[in-house]
Amino acid sequence: MVASTSLSEQHAVVIGGSMAGLLAARVLLNHFGRVTVLERDRIPDQPKPRSGVPQSHHVHILLTQGQRILEQLFPGLEAELEAAGAPQVNWTHDLRWFSIWGWSYQTSSDLNTHPCSRILLEWLIHRRLEQYDHLKFLTSTQAIGLVMNAQNTIVTGVQIQTEQGLDTLKADLVVDASGRNSALPKWLTQLGYAAPTQTMINSFLGYSSRWYQIPEGWEAPWKVMLIHTKPPDHRRSAVLYPVEENRWVVTLAGVGHDYPPIDETDFLHFAQSLRSHEIYNAIQQAQPLSPIYSYRRTDNCWQHYEDLQRFPGHLVAIGDAVCAFNPVYAQGMTVAALGAQTLDQCLSLMVQKQKTALQGFPSKFHKQLAKMLEVPWLLATSEDLRWPTTVGSTPNWQTRLMHQYLDLVVRASLNRSYVSQTFWEVMHMVKSPKVLFDPRIFLPALGLG
Ligand SMILES: Cc1cc2nc3c(=O)[nH]c(=O)nc-3n(C[C@H](O)[C@H](O)[C@H](O)COP(=O)(O)OP(=O)(O)OC[C@H]3O[C@@H](n4cnc5c(N)ncnc54)[C@H](O)[C@@H]3O)c2cc1C
Repeated sequence: MVASTSLSEQHAVVIGGSMAGLLAARVLLNHFGRVTVLERDRIPDQPKPRSGVPQSHHVHILLTQGQRILEQLFPGLEAELEAAGAPQVNWTHDLRWFSIWGWSYQTSSDLNTHPCSRILLEWLIHRRLEQYDHLKFLTSTQAIGLVMNAQNTIVTGVQIQTEQGLDTLKADLVVDASGRNSALPKWLTQLGYAAPTQTMINSFLGYSSRWYQIPEGWEAPWKVMLIHTKPPDHRRSAVLYPVEENRWVVTLAGVGHDYPPIDETDFLHFAQSLRSHEIYNAIQQAQPLSPIYSYRRTDNCWQHYEDLQRFPGHLVAIGDAVCAFNPVYAQGMTVAALGAQTLDQCLSLMVQKQKTALQGFPSKFHKQLAKMLEVPWLLATSEDLRWPTTVGSTPNWQTRLMHQYLDLVVRASLNRSYVSQTFWEVMHMVKSPKVLFDPRIFLPALGLG
């Protein structure tokens, strides 16, 4: 009986070979004898875009917390990024941020990352995973359903569609990491289980992005430029982000249906209409390397697997398949990394308790995952609730108070290095938002220190 064998003799199958799936696979290797990653796409042998991850055309900021977890999971990854030409950015020194109060204060901190394209990051991680001989990638393979035991209580495998036809793959644990469009809610109802309830908060934000060659001899006292919205009137924002091969990726964003255009002239006009002209001035001098890409599926959407009373054993979900965020807050990959850490911790705890029966595991894992998701969810949705056009919830008095307090913290951060550093540590998910209520923050924020 599978449930009584040690995990090291068991087989874990991950559906989806993007960021959440790859990171889940990495931690499953710590516990399972065999791990298989199913990916619908063919994986390119060079860092190239693929259809399953259309968001890779847009800026992908890996927060410092995400970078640190990736380095723990794949020691030496930062050096590989550097070798591939990713620049180094110190987020309090090299970021020039036009906040609601004006330009940010540039000071040093230990918030360092190596900005790169999403494509390069995923490709390097994929390459590292290929070095494990107990991990197998099944590419051009789509999961199309679950295989259940006779009692319909435990998942025992995955139905797959390959280039050769239909097949099944046995599994002792199935991890759904198939992203925002996960079919798991549908599969659950087909099997007679309830689908999770979902919370959706949508600020109707759209992206348009273009890649540029950084002009030869370019010099500026910053590496990353961020121009913020200013509710309720200024709905447009933009980021200019340096990546490998001496390129910038520039993403323009508009909230409340103020979608940025994909026509070249209109794209520049949109950039010119931002609260500062700095990004417009920079891209005017740069050679475009790509068409302009658009993206509009940006709602925050949480599938509440943690609340389900009845759920099949030996099955969990992770990454965007559970909770997808408005990407403008750059949390998705870091949350995927934190989700993988949570999976690792839950499996370790189970083994410590000398339990290897995965029957009750999904409920425990989904509850732990939900605890981790609370902070990033609050950060993203409470910011989205600043806009009257946002649907899915309305700000209560606590949220409005938080908006006001956060604005005061941002103002204090513009000329105080401790406040600035702490604010960015929270934004980079290195510290809990609770630290913003420390007297060293709230006194200056309230003008009392
Ligand atoms: C426009 C945009 C910008 C973003 N910017 C940032 C950012 O700046 N910083 C950040 O941290 N995050 C950002 N994100 C979020 C980030 O892309 C995701 O959170 C992160 O990639 C984790 O996603 P995932 O692996 O769960 O799902 P996905 O990346 O969506 O991957 C799902 C994978 O599953 C595969 N798949 C799907 N169905 C099946 C199936 N049935 N069988 C087999 N394979 C299947 C797909 O081909 C794909 O490879 C952004 C997202 C968007 C949309």
